[in-house]
Amino acid sequence: MASTETDLIVIGAGPAGASAAMVADSNGVDVHLVDEATQAGGQVWRAPIGDLEKSDTPETREGSSLRTRLATSGVKTLSGERVWSVLINTDGLFQVDSLGPDGPTTLIAPRLVAATGAYERIVPFHGWTTPGVMGLAAATILLKSHAVVPGKRPVIAGAGPLLLSVAAGILDAGVKPLAVIDLDSRADWLTRLPSLATQPKLVARGAGWAARVRRAGVPILHRHSVRSVDGHNQVELVTVSPVDASGAFTDGQDRQFNADALLVGHGLTPGADIPRLLSAKMQHSVVRGGYVPDTDAHGQTSVDGLFAVGDGAGIRGADAAVTRGQICGLAVAKESGHLSDVEFGRKVKPLLKACKKQSHFSDAIAETLALRSGQVTSVPKSAVVCRCEDVTRAEIEAAGSAGASDVNQLKHFTRSGMGPCQGRLCGEIAATILSQHLGVARQTVGTLTARPPLRPVAMGDLTGTFSYDDIPIPEPAPL
Ligand SMILES: Cc1cc2nc3c(=O)[nH]c(=O)nc-3n(C[C@H](O)[C@H](O)[C@H](O)COP(=O)(O)OP(=O)(O)OC[C@H]3O[C@@H](n4cnc5c(N)ncnc54)[C@H](O)[C@@H]3O)c2cc1C
Repeated sequence: MASTETDLIVIGAGPAGASAAMVADSNGVDVHLVDEATQAGGQVWRAPIGDLEKSDTPETREGSSLRTRLATSGVKTLSGERVWSVLINTDGLFQVDSLGPDGPTTLIAPRLVAATGAYERIVPFHGWTTPGVMGLAAATILLKSHAVVPGKRPVIAGAGPLLLSVAAGILDAGVKPLAVIDLDSRADWLTRLPSLATQPKLVARGAGWAARVRRAGVPILHRHSVRSVDGHNQVELVTVSPVDASGAFTDGQDRQFNADALLVGHGLTPGADIPRLLSAKMQHSVVRGGYVPDTDAHGQTSVDGLFAVGDGAGIRGADAAVTRGQICGLAVAKESGHLSDVEFGRKVKPLLKACKKQSHFSDAIAETLALRSGQVTSVPKSAVVCRCEDVTRAEIEAAGSAGASDVNQLKHFTRSGMGPCQGRLCGEIAATILSQHLGVARQTVGTLTARPPLRPVAMGDLTGTFSYDDIPIPEPAPL
């Protein structure tokens, strides 16, 4: 199969990757931008489909502006391309293999930007795999792209700004949620207000959602979390209980809701699979959502030519993703000889300044999305943690007692993280359970070794139709 050579491959056409690609392109770099979605925009600026294309929200405006700018740039955008393998070939170049509408594609370049975003995290509770329990961030996809409201009597639970954003979106769609259940207290939000106020427009949006929810009479229960979901093949009853600052359940009155859906999200985990796969130096950061690559201020990782930006390099949100993507695009242009040091210095200065300003807001939001230790200690023994392989908390702890001392050993002992998601959804929680059980720091149990395929792909799709006669048979070795 033929491969295409280029100056720069960017994986991920969200705010971070698209910004990096466009800035590099505008400075003379030949760029290929690859994304598995059918249109650019990533999670936050996801393209609506059909008639919804006309809907007018800040996200749809930002998204269509990005898609227009991308279409008029020189960036070669490959949409609907699932990247399943990234390696450094024998010439020392990055080789990216993807599977798209026209079959397999191979790109080769001396520089690679990983801008693959984040995964939603749900800390398991009794009944969390019941149909009708859905991720909070996943609910935004249904609302934004399809205008589908998940449930007629939903409860919305978890942490961070998506709680009120989803609640307001559902109200706008004509459905009244039964309650919003927030891990944080009002005081937690007030403490963060000075940092959040550094981005007044975003705070005003949040305040607008809160006002909308309160006007509609939707109760907001602060410092509460979901204890259990019950129902026969469908959510019927959601029980919530008070929690302390660590997210652990405390004595206090339970509340119950006769809901038909639970939209729940406990933050985001960086999708840092590509830096892990290429053995970049990684570090664990609770506030950044888990293991993240070590990068300099321009997104350069410890692997020469490999850059990481956006939520995949640590949870910071969309605005920071744009700025850091732009900085990375300039750095690539400089590294590949398209920008002099002086030009680079001049262009990057205001972006670095903006980055610093954004960090107050993004750090405060990242804090709301960080995994709290008490949430993990509250996971019931019988709860399934790795749902691909059906591994419970009790089994993880038993493996720890039997000698599994890091997450890769845990995988061998229990198959936790071995299924189609490859630990993307459960890995951080399974690792935290193991570290708590062993009484060691989270870093001690490490991170799962990444392996291709990065996405599940069918072998037949990669090989296509072939004749066995065409397979070269090596000559037998001389006797
Ligand atoms: C499900 C979900 C919904 C969210 N909704 C919101 C929201 O409504 N509002 C909000 O403020 N924030 C939301 N967030 C957070 C938000 O995504 C980020 O803060 C912001 O979009 C980060 O930008 P990014 O460019 O780093 O990543 P993203 O916007 O996530 O973009 C990453 C891109 O990489 C692509 N990609 C990843 N892996 C591969 C692969 N192997 N092959 C090909 N392409 C790949 C993805 O398709 C995606 O388009 C959401 C996060 C998630 C996980």
